[in-house]
Amino acid sequence: MTAALLAQLRAAVGPAQVLTDGDLSAYLNDWRKRWRGRALAVVRPGSTDEVAAVVRACAAAGVSLVPQGGNTGLVGGGVPDDTGTQVLLSLQRMHRVRAIDAANLAITVEAGCVLQAVQQAAEAQGLLFPLSLAAEGSCTIGGNLATNAGGTQVLRFGNARDLCLGLEVVTAEGAVWDGLSGLRKDNTGYDLRDLFVGSEGTLGIITAATLKLYPLPAATTTAMAACDSLDACVALLNLARARLGAGLTGFEVMGRFALDLVARHFPALPNPLPTAAWTVLLEQSDTEGEAQARHRFEALLGDALEAGTIADAAVAESLAQSQAMWHVRESIPLAQAEEGLNIKHDISLPVSAIPAFVASTDAALQALVPGVRLVNFGHLGDGNLHYNVQAPAGGDAGRFLAEMEARVNHVVYDAVVAHRGSISAEHGVGQLKRDELRERKSPVALALMQRIKLALDPQNLLNPGRVV
Ligand code: FAD
Repeated sequence: MTAALLAQLRAAVGPAQVLTDGDLSAYLNDWRKRWRGRALAVVRPGSTDEVAAVVRACAAAGVSLVPQGGNTGLVGGGVPDDTGTQVLLSLQRMHRVRAIDAANLAITVEAGCVLQAVQQAAEAQGLLFPLSLAAEGSCTIGGNLATNAGGTQVLRFGNARDLCLGLEVVTAEGAVWDGLSGLRKDNTGYDLRDLFVGSEGTLGIITAATLKLYPLPAATTTAMAACDSLDACVALLNLARARLGAGLTGFEVMGRFALDLVARHFPALPNPLPTAAWTVLLEQSDTEGEAQARHRFEALLGDALEAGTIADAAVAESLAQSQAMWHVRESIPLAQAEEGLNIKHDISLPVSAIPAFVASTDAALQALVPGVRLVNFGHLGDGNLHYNVQAPAGGDAGRFLAEMEARVNHVVYDAVVAHRGSISAEHGVGQLKRDELRERKSPVALALMQRIKLALDPQNLLNPGRVV
């Protein structure tokens, strides 16, 4: 049976695109190196019709599929399990830009298009595709939509879901749904697009998408500001919102220990405010000229300084300085990975609840594990924290993860729920949070999700064991 399926897959995509031996670790191990899977084969289709043929062959054989884009997901959703019976379906060869409709501010791309390539294709037309995250050089649009990725521009432009106008999807039976559309208004029944966005490969294979574009800003200004407390960071956020309105396109917060890790592992990266308890990275994008934008930005920071909301600030004087500031922020996950395995929490809370949440949860974790190190950073403007827990200095990171993860998660997620937050803000559920979701989501919501899964994938062939 296996030999017959492999022969069908080779006929569908060509023998060179069905990989069964050699070093397949780039497909089978996840970015964090937490999950190491095995696969019957890695299959690399080059077109939507080939994806459909692969899905039909697998469905007929009762073999499950794990879709994968750039394999940068952080919750173990895009790698196979360890049975060696699943087909890993890589969308990487499907990376064409199909069309740009500048007058309609829309771009249609295949699912395997790397996010940065989409940004560049838009920019070549004088337009902006605003989705932006540290993995943008490797992650794909299909993966971004399947996880409803967030990133640094959500404050102004929303998540991947908000940037998606239409989708092309191969269903679990291997049919092609052409839902590619450049429409901003379409109330013709249930929103199928929104079912597939965020479904993490469990309901269908995204093969292409039509995405929203925006005019490129005329000027972008970036600054770092030092705050003594998270309360001060929230006060600065509200001031920036009031003064900059939709011009505020980024508001990131970074705790002192997160930046200490960057300094330790990437000492060449400059941090203008190395002693700040909390550092805020603000970005303003403006359709007006550079001079007006800069004036407004500096006035905001000057007033915040005078009011004592911030203790110090550094405004980027050039594009290179602005990029350097973002580079520091985006290096935190990499610095953490260098420091060793850790317990990650991608959570969201009402912005107003964040200072109290952090104070009480920090204290509870220190009581549980004296000396535990808290790497706290995130998209404060969206109420999204990456509240990560690293072993005490000198401790064995692997052992800490194995022994403490369940107890640490219990403390953190209980506090999240008590503050009416979410245990998964932007990274998704995957395998990492599946059991936690079962514990914490309402039974009614879980039952509805299971019925949707059963309706769209009755054989449970698409990414089984993930999310639901
Ligand atoms: P993969 O990792 O390949 O897959 C992710 C999930 O989507 C899997 O469940 C997979 O089965 C499914 N999938 C992939 N392609 C398809 C498809 N075509 N059809 C159906 N299902 C599919 N995420 C954020 O949201 N915000 C951040 O700021 C952010 N920063 C990051 C920084 C770093 C350094 C890293 C390593 C990751 C970061 N991430 C962030 C997480 C990750 O980059 C995103 O989840 C991204 O959207 C995943 O895209 P991918 O192509 O790598 O997907």
